[in-house]
Amino acid sequence: MMVFRFSPATVRASSGMSLVQGKLRSFESVASVLDTGHAESGSKRSVWNHLVRHAEFYSRNQDSWNLALDLGPASPMLEATRNTGCGLASRVLRCDGSLSSGGGKLLISLPSAMQIETAVIVSKMRPGELQGTICVSSQGSCAMACRFCDTGLIRQAGAGINLPEWAILEQVLHAEAWLQREGSQKVSNVVFMGMGEPLLNYGNVLGAARMLRASGHKVTLSTVGVAPQIRKLAKDAPQGLNLALSLHAPTQELRDELLPVASRSWKLPQVFSAVRQFEEANGTGVLIEYILIRDVNDGDEQAVALANLITEERIKCAGINLIPYNPTDAGAAHGYRPPSDLTCKRFREKLRSLGAPNATIRFSTKLGRSWLAACGQLGLKKPPKAFESIAAPRICM
Ligand code: SF4
Repeated sequence: MMVFRFSPATVRASSGMSLVQGKLRSFESVASVLDTGHAESGSKRSVWNHLVRHAEFYSRNQDSWNLALDLGPASPMLEATRNTGCGLASRVLRCDGSLSSGGGKLLISLPSAMQIETAVIVSKMRPGELQGTICVSSQGSCAMACRFCDTGLIRQAGAGINLPEWAILEQVLHAEAWLQREGSQKVSNVVFMGMGEPLLNYGNVLGAARMLRASGHKVTLSTVGVAPQIRKLAKDAPQGLNLALSLHAPTQELRDELLPVASRSWKLPQVFSAVRQFEEANGTGVLIEYILIRDVNDGDEQAVALANLITEERIKCAGINLIPYNPTDAGAAHGYRPPSDLTCKRFREKLRSLGAPNATIRFSTKLGRSWLAACGQLGLKKPPKAFESIAAPRICM
């Protein structure tokens, strides 16, 4: 397996252009400088692209680095941030799992003392090639409090739960660093499926998504159905942004039970109307996500209702992801249990027999259960088994 290596010298040598040496305190300072009007067109993206390409170096040297930027000597941003100190603002406190075993979870601390989790999944591994999917968090907890999800149980002190744009992007940097250290030479896919409802942190998520698209990441944003913001996103989304709808139930009644806050805030007709608007504006079908919970929503009756709903609502629908429920404290309080593999397959076959588009069971999400990183399990809890930080010791404090 090839090992990615980088030093500032190689940046200078490989660029073939004169580079300006400057110091940036953190990506937070980059963002704040740009936000206060020092921005020049494209500067922020230049910084971000550079950081992504060399994430391993910057994450490893997070306390002390000089940023080598090809921005030209007159860059106002560089002048404004010169000699202000160095380092990334967030810190990786713990890494659970290992990329060689298929993925893991980073526990990250922000300067505000808020903690967040980022899951990393290795979706493809061939000799010399490794493709990762980074599941980023957009909030420090979640007001949606879906009944199967531990993120809704988190209580963190502080001014607010929304993560700033830089904190979303730094999760990607830390995760890319981990992947690059293992030999990855490709940018990862990024999915907004971690802690929080991304569309309730609209501005920061949109800003981060734009940056990620600009750096070549494939980006999927998952929502429980915040209808007004889906409509807004239809106009604002960067080209190629994928949208996933966490539906989880084919009827309003069942949705009221599983996702009480979201379901009562935005009724199904309202949600699907917004989804159609997004699909029309962006030309792509929305992915439907459906968590399968034993004896709750995994029967033939629900499969038929789901297939009918998709047809009746006339959405393009890129596919249906069936996700076996992963055990959580939140779900246990309601008696939820995972379905059998056989039941999952039966549900999928029923959908297929009814002509529902591209139904796939995501058995792979079960992999993350070992380190409490599977869907619904991001609750800031240490896995029962000790998955120590040996896979990425240098990015942990
Ligand atoms: S499933 Fe998503 S929206 Fe629901 S509580 Fe968990 S993080 Fe929030």
